[in-house]
Amino acid sequence: MKHLNEREQIRNAATKWRWQYAGYPKNSEFSKISQKLEKLDVNSATAEDVKNIIGNDSWCSPMGCNECGKSSWECVELGEPADYESRTAHICRDCLVAALALIGVNT
Ligand SMILES: [Zn+2]
Repeated sequence: MKHLNEREQIRNAATKWRWQYAGYPKNSEFSKISQKLEKLDVNSATAEDVKNIIGNDSWCSPMGCNECGKSSWECVELGEPADYESRTAHICRDCLVAALALIGVNT
């Protein structure tokens, strides 16, 4: 179970990048991006900073909720770690609250 808010995605961006491109150690562009991500102050950087380094927002952006379909920074990842064909769900705060109400938990 992971919290996928903006700060956590920023904190994990460099690690995820290294893992994703570990098979391309000689690609200078991947290495430059990796170095820039490692230098980010993860306590103050924004999603826009990550986007500017990588060139797109797919590495740090609001997640789509698998229950309601809305994009949100306040999603939790449930189930298997996200990967191709994994059984993973990204659920937004509103849907988590609704799920707790469904089982009788007052929030
Ligand atoms: Zn939702």
